[in-house]
Amino acid sequence: MKRKIPSFIKIYESLIKIPTISSENKLIDQSNKILIDLLANYLSEFNFSINIQNIPNTNKFNMISSFGVGPGGLLLSGHTDTVDYDEKTWTKDPFKLIEKNNKIYGLGTVDMKGFFAFLLDVISSMNMKKIKKPLYIVATANEETDMSGAKYFSQNTNITPDCIIIGEPTSLKLVKAHKGHISYTIDIIGDTGHSSSPNGINSIEIAYEIIKQLIDLKKYLQEKYLHKDFSIAYPTMNFGSIHGGNAVNKICSLCSITLEIRPIPKLGLKKLEILLKEKLKKIKKKWPNRIFLNNLFFPVPSYELSKKHELLIKKIENFCNIESTTVNYCTEAPFLKEIAPTLILGPGSIEQAHRPNEYLNCEFIAPTKHIIKKLITKFCY
Ligand SMILES: [Zn+2]
Repeated sequence: MKRKIPSFIKIYESLIKIPTISSENKLIDQSNKILIDLLANYLSEFNFSINIQNIPNTNKFNMISSFGVGPGGLLLSGHTDTVDYDEKTWTKDPFKLIEKNNKIYGLGTVDMKGFFAFLLDVISSMNMKKIKKPLYIVATANEETDMSGAKYFSQNTNITPDCIIIGEPTSLKLVKAHKGHISYTIDIIGDTGHSSSPNGINSIEIAYEIIKQLIDLKKYLQEKYLHKDFSIAYPTMNFGSIHGGNAVNKICSLCSITLEIRPIPKLGLKKLEILLKEKLKKIKKKWPNRIFLNNLFFPVPSYELSKKHELLIKKIENFCNIESTTVNYCTEAPFLKEIAPTLILGPGSIEQAHRPNEYLNCEFIAPTKHIIKKLITKFCY
């Protein structure tokens, strides 16, 4: 039976065309409903059952589609949103798919709306009658901000696939672990006053005490927490900015520091928070109501596929002929792992994500289709 499904490039084009920007800035943040509906329509053509979830109190949606019923099978997941783009640095239309020099340009081509074009194309070429265990295709919302889509999905489903693959751009390597991310602003309130007044409390001097403690913590984390599978084997800490004061003859009344920490899988966010607060406890006591610590972005835990699933990694490495690795960026894996063992594997390089003129290198097209086909065959046939 011939279906009316468009070609790979036509599907790709239709996904990139729909803006689905997620942003902390409410003026920029967009709903992903149109894209979710489009994916649901495509998948309905292939007789997938569709379930659309609205993330409570938002205009954001997840789509959970399934072919076949019962336990086990495979879940292929991607996020539908993209980051914002910078008009000044993009020289191409971010919402127009452009094929040039063996590259496919557009916002979301690698991160990661393009993954759905691959899935739809592969499904259209497969004999779906052979499917014995369910195949799920899941599209989530808000990955680029608070990961509320993946979180909501993992808490509101009862499916039990054997494996979940997230199609983030890993250059077709099998990612089994990644670091987490937590970021803070530290606001320090001093006194206002003329520089000649010796009694005013200067926020820069308190900042100095805080930074000393944080560098201590940085060294402690480096020595205490090691994970040999990572190219940078310890948790990293980076001071991103420091702002304070506006005149040399004034006491600096407000100083703000931003910093991020990227913990390895053995260091949980709670533990990290305890260590950080412990380090600042003394200074906070010394300077009551002057030091305010707040999360800057939504924290994401680190992730590692449990050692008990070592066989699953070997199995996928073997039949896809790829190798496993670890990365330093975050994904929805720490949430989706609540449903089933989760790995990350997708086309394109993370180097092109969140960059002007984002593109997918066409060299990934054939091997990606091959790998997706293998995965579906091995887990669902
Ligand atoms: Zn992504």
